[in-house]
Amino acid sequence: MITSAVMFENSEAFARELDSKDELSSLREEFFIPTRESMAGKTKPAIAQPEGEKCVYLAGNSLGLQPRNVHKYISEELEDWASFGVEGHFHGRHPWLPYHEFLTEMSARVVGAKPVEVVVMNTLTTNLHLMMVSFYRPDKERFKILVEQGAFPSDQYAVASQANFHGFNPKDAVIELKPRDGEDLLRTEDILDVIEREGDTIALVLLGNVNYLTGQAFEVVPIAEKAHEKGCYIGLNLAHGAGNLHLQLHDWNVDFAVWCSYKYLNSGPGSLAGCFVHERHKDNFDLPRFAGWWGHNKETRFRMGPEFEPLPGAEGWQLSNPPIFQLAALRASLELFDKAGMKQLRAKGDLLTGYLEFLVKDTPAGYLSIITPADPAQRGSQLSIRFSSNPKEMLKAFKDEGVICDFREPDIIRATPVPMYNTFLDVYRFASIIRRFASK
Ligand SMILES: *Cc1c(COP(=O)(O)O)cnc(C)c1O
Repeated sequence: MITSAVMFENSEAFARELDSKDELSSLREEFFIPTRESMAGKTKPAIAQPEGEKCVYLAGNSLGLQPRNVHKYISEELEDWASFGVEGHFHGRHPWLPYHEFLTEMSARVVGAKPVEVVVMNTLTTNLHLMMVSFYRPDKERFKILVEQGAFPSDQYAVASQANFHGFNPKDAVIELKPRDGEDLLRTEDILDVIEREGDTIALVLLGNVNYLTGQAFEVVPIAEKAHEKGCYIGLNLAHGAGNLHLQLHDWNVDFAVWCSYKYLNSGPGSLAGCFVHERHKDNFDLPRFAGWWGHNKETRFRMGPEFEPLPGAEGWQLSNPPIFQLAALRASLELFDKAGMKQLRAKGDLLTGYLEFLVKDTPAGYLSIITPADPAQRGSQLSIRFSSNPKEMLKAFKDEGVICDFREPDIIRATPVPMYNTFLDVYRFASIIRRFASK
């Protein structure tokens, strides 16, 4: 793979050359890719690669594509259920009782954690609430939650309702980090300043990494250090980070993190979420938590006793026995992440997004601007592009030509070439439509 600074060229031949040198290119074959025909409803839905011309799918930040093995893995569980009934918990090819454990090490590798720090359970917003039960414990002096301005709506509702639940007015308890006037991104120094100034009243710092709208990846280490210095907990919402950034959650020393697996982690609509709790809280059974039987000591779970005895580590926050079909889908997907390695994926991702940036910038001045940071260390695969005119017309052109990306009112298009299945040619095709529009 090309990793050093590359002199990019704006040509189809150059895009094809980058693809031919891409050592991860075979991963694309592991996925079903929608085609212009299938998107138009002209082919019969089936578990197979649809016929026709493959779309340029740049919406993996919203819903990742389907790994081919998902069907097989879910089918195996359907077969085991048919063959064994309840005994599938013990005698299936992948017994259901410990099924979530088959995903733990792979999940830990994706987010840079130790296995004891990670569990797959529930869905994202649910996990965020469960983590706040333990890590947002306001009192009269320290009751604030620090979030980004314009955080993802579900996060805004979650933090406001937590503040309310504890008897605080969210208007006082939820404080927002705002970019400077005329800027779109948060500066690390400004984040540190706010924590320094207000830290004594902040119970929890909660950041989306990367920010879903701007694509900005925060410099977690200094922020986590400052938060801890001021006695605050820090948590990350990694909906747009897991499977995208090269995360090092253990070393970054955050207290907790949560993520969904249907975006970059390709495990299907509404699929299960992940949760990280730092090792230092592993045996802290004094932390208040909401409990359920799947978080209980495995040795004694089926004695059905009345006393809750939490498992050490992240597993101790589980509530219910998990949905096996969804776990099967995620297992199929995580195997691909394991095969490729997050570091290698990010390296290709930097090149893909760098090429996208290069091509998009090659348009007449004033037509568009890129909001996402230019520094690869401060972003993942997503580029958020603001258009000065007619983004909706362009969206229509994208659709007509089989390009799938995402639009945020009033003027931002998010385009995300993911290293798992996108090509440099995809990026080139996307950018050539923009160029055609820009030079009209
Ligand atoms: C996608 C996303 C969510 C979605 O939450 P669910 O509970 O999975 O529906 C929440 N927060 C952020 C930042 C997201 O990007």
